[in-house]
Amino acid sequence: MTNLATILSTSAQRNPAGIAIKMDDIEISFGALEVLSAKVAGMLAARGVKPGDRVALISPNLPQMPPIYYGILRYGAIVVPLNPLLKAREVAYHLRDSGATLAFAWEGVMGEVGPAAAETETDTIPIDAAFMGLLADVEPLLDIAAATKDDTAVILYTSGTTGKPKGAELTHENLRSNAEVSVSLFGSRDGDVIFGGLPFFHIFGQTCALNSAVMAGATVTILPKFDPAKALEIIQRDKVTIFEGVPTMYIALLRTPGRENYDLSSLRLAASGGSALPLEILHEFETTFGATMLEGYGLSETSPVVTFNQMDGIRKPGSIGQAVTGAQLRILDEAGNDVEPGEVGEIAVAGPYVMKGYWNNPEATAAAIPDGWFRTGDLGRKDEDDVFFIVDRKKDMILRGGYNVYPREIEEVLYEHPAVAEAAVIGRPDAVHGEEIYAAVALKAGAEGADDPEALAASIRDFVKDRVAGYKFPRSVIIMDSLPKGPTGKILKREIVI
Ligand code: AMP
Repeated sequence: MTNLATILSTSAQRNPAGIAIKMDDIEISFGALEVLSAKVAGMLAARGVKPGDRVALISPNLPQMPPIYYGILRYGAIVVPLNPLLKAREVAYHLRDSGATLAFAWEGVMGEVGPAAAETETDTIPIDAAFMGLLADVEPLLDIAAATKDDTAVILYTSGTTGKPKGAELTHENLRSNAEVSVSLFGSRDGDVIFGGLPFFHIFGQTCALNSAVMAGATVTILPKFDPAKALEIIQRDKVTIFEGVPTMYIALLRTPGRENYDLSSLRLAASGGSALPLEILHEFETTFGATMLEGYGLSETSPVVTFNQMDGIRKPGSIGQAVTGAQLRILDEAGNDVEPGEVGEIAVAGPYVMKGYWNNPEATAAAIPDGWFRTGDLGRKDEDDVFFIVDRKKDMILRGGYNVYPREIEEVLYEHPAVAEAAVIGRPDAVHGEEIYAAVALKAGAEGADDPEALAASIRDFVKDRVAGYKFPRSVIIMDSLPKGPTGKILKREIVI
């Protein structure tokens, strides 16, 4: 078993001058990235960090981030990536829970990280313009620590389905083997340019953009904060070949004024994951941008990719594709037995990509992996070709008047309405029906009828009413400027107030 950081040293040996990381005018070659990461390892040694210690990394995607990430890994310490949007008390929770002894933190978040670090007595190193200069004097530590099959590389905090954020312990082998899956699915290679707009502190960006690009010897061009106009500019300027994003990013690209003025002909593949990709968006994206769009599925706990549609194999728009090489999937009923083919149940996963467990939390680990099969909390079904479909998240299912209503099905219909740009369907407690169905939508710019929102909301509701069974349509539709989103762009249903 090898340390995840060897994916970098291998590419550095093969093509030292190749560009690994790019941000506007800044470029870091594979050779330079390797040396910088060895210097970060030297810095850790000088600070008295020990292999196995947890080191937090709190930053948006910046050029300094990959050297720190691979530096911590090659030293044999454990990376704890944290969202830079966290407030001081949240940072303190994560530092305390992980027992981090050191935190690398972007200067822009020091206002929140500083007090948290003081409270938890965590040493900090600021990530700022002077950071690379600071490394200049450090002696590189060239050895890469050996990693056994069970050695943890990264602790990735995730809210999971309930409770406080839990740290999913991902091993070097979990992450290395899943990066390999991305490389083979996307056919990425030397010469590819991968869009790095998904945050690396989240598993999708970390494995599928950063690690897979480094493994393939491709370039990742980073954008610290997603902005659709800037993303279009980067695709054109850097001739991006592979775009990876969550559905709201694709919606934003499609709705950007003047998008037809960009030359996006370099794009050959768009990969979507993280939440359900509305079929309408897939079709619109493919016809507008001329790139193949493939949807996949995964979770932080599974490193993440466990299913994907294939470029040269089975592809069914609207599905999450077949299990990827190595992943095993089952669909289980409440009692933990397999459901009949075609029936809906909870997706469970086993195989090399499933986390070791939740950090310091044997109860949560046993609940999530009671019998060797990780329970995803997602409801799905499988068709006759072993292609999987996500029906919804278990906790998002609405139980109205004794019927199961899957919000996703209603959201698909809302996306067919010409005025709707974004949609979310949620349930709220109701005295009569147990739960009642509501929809929140954001409108496309210049949508017809927007001057009379009340009438438009009613007509959107009627549009759905005409297309689904009586118990499924939303009691009311509210129009919002935009829907609340998390750091990766996923719509946050729990923050929608109705
Ligand atoms: P995270 O751990 O933040 O990556 O979130 C994982 C969750 O994202 C899964 O449990 C699913 O609910 C959701 N998810 C990921 N990919 C898809 C997809 N293609 N369709 C629907 N939901 C998805």
